Amino acid sequence: MQVIRVAIIGAGGGGLCALRHLMGPRTKKELNEDRQVQFEATCFEQAAKIGGTWAYTDQVGRDEYGNSIHSSMYKNLKTNLPKQCMAFPDFPFHDDLPSFIGHEDVQKYLEDYADSFGILKYIKFQRKVHTIQPVHQVNALYGLKWEVTTHSVLESQDQGETDVYDVVIVCNGNYAIPSIPTLPGSDLFEGHIMHSHNYRKPESFKDHVIVVLGANSSGQDIALELSAVAKKVYISHKKPPLQSRFPDNVEQKPGIDKLDAPSKITFQDGTSVHADSLILCTGYHYDYSFLAPECGIEVDDYRVMPLYKHLVNTKFPSMAIVGICKRIVPFPFFDIQVRFFRAVLEGSLILPSEAAMNQDTEHDYRNRLSKGKPHRYSHEMSGCMFQYLNELADMADIERIPKNYEVIYDFVAKHRKTDVMNYKKMNFGLNERGDDYVVL
Ligand code: FAD
Repeated sequence: MQVIRVAIIGAGGGGLCALRHLMGPRTKKELNEDRQVQFEATCFEQAAKIGGTWAYTDQVGRDEYGNSIHSSMYKNLKTNLPKQCMAFPDFPFHDDLPSFIGHEDVQKYLEDYADSFGILKYIKFQRKVHTIQPVHQVNALYGLKWEVTTHSVLESQDQGETDVYDVVIVCNGNYAIPSIPTLPGSDLFEGHIMHSHNYRKPESFKDHVIVVLGANSSGQDIALELSAVAKKVYISHKKPPLQSRFPDNVEQKPGIDKLDAPSKITFQDGTSVHADSLILCTGYHYDYSFLAPECGIEVDDYRVMPLYKHLVNTKFPSMAIVGICKRIVPFPFFDIQVRFFRAVLEGSLILPSEAAMNQDTEHDYRNRLSKGKPHRYSHEMSGCMFQYLNELADMADIERIPKNYEVIYDFVAKHRKTDVMNYKKMNFGLNERGDDYVVL
C-alpha cells in the first residue's frame, strides 16, 4: 500500500471536505474498491477553530496577535442559498432548521460535519502556512515533493516548522482580501468608507445616507439590511437595473464617477448625493502569496493559472486549489472537486498531458470571452456550474450531485432576481413521495 502525505491549507468548508474524503470513513461503494493508496493528511489552520468564513467574529482589522481577520461574515446574515442545496451531499443540514439559515447554523453544521467524520484530529490550529515550494526529491506520484513551512500565529518570533509532503491541497478561501477600487477624490471625502469585509452590523448606520457600491450578493444584502435603519440607501452599480423591488428608501444609481469634500458622491450619469457612508461591496482578490513562484501558480487579476478544470495545477498536478470558482454552491462544489482530485491521486483517473490540460483550460477561458464574459469572470460558474460538476463526476466515476440541488438552486436564483426582499422567507420540504422538494 502506497502512503501519500497530503498538506491541506485551511479548515473552512473546503479543507474540511478534503479531510473528510481523504481521512474520513469510506462509503460502502468505496470499501468495495481495490485501493492501492492510503492518505496521511495534515490540515493547517491559522485560526483557533474550524469554519473559515463562517466563524463569525465582531472583530475587524487585526486580532489580538496582530493577524488580519479572515472572516467577512456579518452578524445578521441569512444564507442566500437554502440548506437543501448548500449541504455536502453526504451530510444534510438538520431537519429542524428553516431553509435559509444564520451563519451560526452553518458554523454548527461544519462542526458537526468535522465531528461526525472524525477529522478534527488531523488539524493543526493556529499554524499559518507561510511558504510552499516544490523540492525535487523523487516522488512516486509526480517526481517532486512539496516543502511546507508553517509558523505559529501566537508568536511573532516563531522560527517556523518545515515538513515535506507528496501532495498539497490549497483551501484558503477567496473572501478575505478586499478589492478596493480607485475612486477619484476618495482622499477628499470626509464620510466613512469601509469594505464589506469589515461590515458587521447596521446599528452604527442609523439615520445615515449610505452609498453601497456593488450589487452582487453582499451589496444587495447589505443595502437591504441597512435600509431598515438608514435614512436613504443608494445602490451604485454598473449592471442593468436590478429587477427586484426594494424598500422605498433604496434607490439604484450607476457606478461612481468621483468623490468630493466633504460628503459628495457623483455618479456616472452626472447626478450626485451627499452621503455619510460609502460601503464598498466590490469583491475580493485571490491570494496565494504563500506559494513560492516555483509552484508555477500565477494570478492574472481575477484569473488563477494554470489550473485544469479550475482545480489542478497543470505544471505540478500533485497540487490542487479547491473552490476558486465564483457563483457556486460551495459545499457540494468542494465535494465534487475533492473527490475528483482524490481519484487522480488514487490513480483511477489519469489526467491528460500538461499540454492537453493547458489547451482545455485555454479553451474554457476563450469560450467565456466569446460569450461576452469579462476577464474577471474567468472562474465564474453561473449557468454552467452543474454541467461542470457533472463533467468532473463522470470523469472521476463518482456520484453526481443529486438533481434536486439543481432544481432548487435554479428556483431560488429566479426568485432572488425578482424578489430580493422576500425570497429568504421561503421554506422547502420534501413532497409526499419524498423524491423532490416543494415550497411549503
Ligand atoms: P474559507 O471559509 O474562507 O476558509 C479558508 C480557511 O483557510 C480559513 O479558516 C482561513 O483561516 C484558512 N487560511 C487561509 N490562509 C491560510 C494560511 N496561509 N495558513 C493557514 N490557514 C489559512 N456560501 C454558501 O453556500 N451560502 C451562503 O449563503 C454564503 N454566504 C456568504 C456570505 C459571505 C459574506 C461570504 C464572505 C461568503 C459566503 N458564502 C456562502 C461562501 C463561503 O465562502 C463558502 O460557503 C465557504 O465557506 C468557503 O469555504 P473555503 O474553505 O473555500 O474558505
